[in-house]
Amino acid sequence: MDEQTNVKSLLKERLGQDLLSILERISQVASRSEVTVFAVGGFVRDLLLNIPNKDIDIVVEGNGILFASDLAEEFDGKVKSHEKFGTSVVIFPDGYRIDVAMARVEYYEYPAALPTIKQSSVNSDLYRRDFTINSLAVKLNGEGAFSLMDLFNGKRDLKNKEINVLHNLSFIDDPCRLFRAIKFEQRFSFKISKQTEEFMRVAVKKRLVDSLSGARLLNEITLILKEKYPLKYILRMKEFDLLKFISSQIILDSADLEALEKIETVLSWTETISLPEKPEVWYVYLLAIIYSLDEESFMETIEKLPMQARLKKSLIIDRRTCKKGLELLGKDKDWEPEVIYHLFSDLSIEALIYFLAVDSTDRANQYANIYFTQYCGQAELSLTGDDLVEMGLKPGPVFQSVFKALREAHVKGAIETRDDEVCWVKKEFLEQ
Ligand code: ATP
Repeated sequence: MDEQTNVKSLLKERLGQDLLSILERISQVASRSEVTVFAVGGFVRDLLLNIPNKDIDIVVEGNGILFASDLAEEFDGKVKSHEKFGTSVVIFPDGYRIDVAMARVEYYEYPAALPTIKQSSVNSDLYRRDFTINSLAVKLNGEGAFSLMDLFNGKRDLKNKEINVLHNLSFIDDPCRLFRAIKFEQRFSFKISKQTEEFMRVAVKKRLVDSLSGARLLNEITLILKEKYPLKYILRMKEFDLLKFISSQIILDSADLEALEKIETVLSWTETISLPEKPEVWYVYLLAIIYSLDEESFMETIEKLPMQARLKKSLIIDRRTCKKGLELLGKDKDWEPEVIYHLFSDLSIEALIYFLAVDSTDRANQYANIYFTQYCGQAELSLTGDDLVEMGLKPGPVFQSVFKALREAHVKGAIETRDDEVCWVKKEFLEQ
């Protein structure tokens, strides 16, 4: 069997006839448009690893923007293009998307700069890739269509389960790759090669990550924390001394590590009860990484990482409430239902998970259990915002206070029915 049939049959066997048909049509459009196109990157890597991945990235030798619009026409889809970068996304009628980019070389004016881009051949395009395993391509049309291109021993490294950069300046060109190396190593249970590890250590020593923008740093970290079982990635970042680029004050001492280790257990527990919403697991881990920072370093860190204001705010509140809660439950006292309800309902669901990882005593678990299985149900309200307006309250932040107080009154057992709620609102908020 030759290489060409190999990839076609692999594609059919692993991703199905529908996807193969799409690739065949892409191939036909490319030949009609007189360009040569390639499927590249993670799609090819995962095809060889037998990991389902239908995200096709196409590289075009020639005018990528024009080709993308021809492709959109073929599939009755839409196209969105960035002329400046020579990139497009083709959106199929059913929402399926294909990324298209012109083959390009990138010049870095200085380390970690955004690259200057120039049209080029696929070979140079593949040479600018981060790791050998991500530099594989499948030629889709012309001579040798559907054959695998392996210019940098990507197949060998997939077989040896090794992460290798393509050249010794790779991390200087783009320090983001330090995080990406760990991401792919841990995701596939591969090993960063000795030589690449040496390049990484030098790049860390030279503090190249400092030259990355906060946005790029945050993006890489978030992507890592969104992987399955992020703890092992965090430990590997710690090993490479990469966490200091989030904050030089991050230590992750034994107590932090113990809490980090427990997060998975708490997450499994939360799957057995019905939570009001699905937790954003990456946020739990982010909170865990920066939780122990002193106030000043904590604020500095979240200022440095350009997160949405909403996220910053919730990190600040969650950390503060967690600390208060730990103090509270640290006292040897039986707390009233409304105190527990008040504490837990002030925490985001993610912070609550972290809280239970830090305080994994039976007592904290019992309180959490009662909170979810009993108090949350009891705290459901009959009155809505419209009811409050009808009762004469002016919409505004006061509504939040009314609802919060009503819920606590329910948990306390002070009220039960809708009529109770009405009387209670009248008494507490209207008759003054
Ligand atoms: P994932 O499964 O995480 O999406 P992926 O390999 O598809 O993996 P992307 O981040 O979508 O990852 O990148 C697509 C391809 O672009 C990569 O396979 C790699 O060839 C190239 N690439 C992405 N980021 C970089 C980078 N920082 N430096 C060099 N090449 C990169």
